Amino acid sequence: MSHSNVSIFIPHIGCPNMCSFCNQRIISGTQTAPTGEDVRQICSQAFNEIKDKKNAEIAFFGGSFTAIENDYMMLLLESVQEFLGEDGFGGIRISTRPDCIDDKILTLLKKYKVTSIELGAQSMQDDVLEANNRGHKSCDVVNASNLIRNYGFELGLQMMVGLYKSSLQDEYDTMRKIIRIHPDTVRIYPVVVLAGTELARFFESGEYVPEPFDTIVGICADMLSEFENNGISVIKCGLHASEGVEGDMVAGYYHPAFRELCESRIYRSLTEQLIIQHKGTDYVGKICFAVNPSCISKALGHKKSNYDYFKSHGIEIKVVADEKVLKYKCELRR
Ligand code: SF4
Repeated sequence: MSHSNVSIFIPHIGCPNMCSFCNQRIISGTQTAPTGEDVRQICSQAFNEIKDKKNAEIAFFGGSFTAIENDYMMLLLESVQEFLGEDGFGGIRISTRPDCIDDKILTLLKKYKVTSIELGAQSMQDDVLEANNRGHKSCDVVNASNLIRNYGFELGLQMMVGLYKSSLQDEYDTMRKIIRIHPDTVRIYPVVVLAGTELARFFESGEYVPEPFDTIVGICADMLSEFENNGISVIKCGLHASEGVEGDMVAGYYHPAFRELCESRIYRSLTEQLIIQHKGTDYVGKICFAVNPSCISKALGHKKSNYDYFKSHGIEIKVVADEKVLKYKCELRR
């Protein structure tokens, strides 16, 4: 059963911070905060369109929900209550900062039928968090995650790849620390440098030098398969397509099919390992391998890039479907 969200974007209201990369108004693609009536209209339209309501959540994204001024937060929560319950949507999803979670707020969120909480962890390295003005430490992510779990909410963690002052070692350390927390879901966001942010100024002055695009695709591919192989569902890999982002991006790693690029990379590496293991390093010729039926096009690569890549090395790959083979795995076939 696939999950869906009724997305409501809350711009940068209430958040006391200005993280180096954040221009929340651009990311949300909206300038004004929705009124209670706006929220009811969005929900009402979705209510008529979505058949499997139990597997859908009303999702407040874009800002730091629990840092919003209390009256407005209550208005938002109140506005969606009539769309929940027996025949309504399955619950509410919110995203917030790890230092804006405590017993009082979690008790309130529970009362208003919030089901899932996502925390913007971004990095689990304290010096990286500090360099990017996050205003919290990695221990806040651990503590808030434990508290959220204790209250029975679904836990999601969001992380960024390619932040200012984040080394390759830092990226993988962050991944390992998140795996240790073992959230239900993860979102991987490669950094996008937006005009007007502090990161844009660091980039323009030469203080921040982004890694090559290809390196970041490789790191995100490793993370995607590591998280999934550890039973953590990666629900997003790459920033969502929006004209605001493309128009205001001055550097970084935006691509409309970023996840597909990462999945292609996963299968290219797996295929290379298979060839070396079974045919040797100098092999040229044909090779046939099986993947999960949902992964045939991923194995061939984004726009058949893997097929073309191996062809240019004298190897013709043939991919067959086998539902016994797990996602992000492959097996040799004769
Ligand atoms: S905490 Fe979130 S909303 Fe606030 S400045 Fe940072 S990224 Fe933007």
